[in-house]
Amino acid sequence: MRFVTVMTEQGPRACGVFEGAYAEIDGATSMRSLLAQGPDALKDAWRIAKQSPKRHDPARVRLLAPVPDPSKILCIGLNYLDHAAESGMQPPSEPILFTKYANTLIGHREPIILPRESQEVDYEAELVVVIGKRGKHIPLASALDHVAGYAVGHDVSARDWQLNKPGKQWTIGKTFDTFAPIGPELVTADEVPDPHNLGIRLRLNGQTMQDSSTAQLIFRVDALVSYLSRVMTLEPGDLIFTGTPPGVGMARKPPVWLKPGDQVEVEIDGLGTLANPVAADSYS
Ligand code: MN
Repeated sequence: MRFVTVMTEQGPRACGVFEGAYAEIDGATSMRSLLAQGPDALKDAWRIAKQSPKRHDPARVRLLAPVPDPSKILCIGLNYLDHAAESGMQPPSEPILFTKYANTLIGHREPIILPRESQEVDYEAELVVVIGKRGKHIPLASALDHVAGYAVGHDVSARDWQLNKPGKQWTIGKTFDTFAPIGPELVTADEVPDPHNLGIRLRLNGQTMQDSSTAQLIFRVDALVSYLSRVMTLEPGDLIFTGTPPGVGMARKPPVWLKPGDQVEVEIDGLGTLANPVAADSYS
């Protein structure tokens, strides 16, 4: 099953993806609450959407992130062996956690806004895990039961704020507005037989900058879910950015930073392609 969240004139609507159209699920204003009702309710919603006459043309609608209002956006740093090496860091012995907030979330085709406060905005292709079942102290063996599905994500990063501030505080450089594009779709876990064998790529203005596989993950999806749940109760709709492969802009010589007019595409096998333009900050 594949789901999106469409912004309609009546507000956000969860939709199923059928035959090249987004079909509204009657009464479903929130993907997060749909997930909270459990896997059977999700299947029912899918069947309802299939019959729905309220269909949207993907080329014309505004998409939000598949879950636009999660209770948590958890992010893992340095989780690909090669990326740790290119960053000049030792592979971590435990997952490195930072966070983003809901202000960062945008959907497919929405612009990434370059903050006026940063001169070093970088890209990072990432697999995003969507939690479907509440849990704390989740054993490794059952951790994947808590995963509803996956989406393509982009961890946009202001390196000057991530790396040059006191106290090694990554979060501040990661949570500028629009810094977490996700989508277009949430793809349910049953359609992803092995989340640890997916090609993952990022193209900047058509040029491939990152090209790897989730097989390179240091801490895998089940390990991350289990680890994070030692600290906090994971809730339906919670999002986990799982880290990025090599090829980021800061590791290049000379470094590559995003600029107005750029087009960034992140592609993950079986999950789709997330495309976002880059725009200057016009806030006044
Ligand atoms: Mn990242």
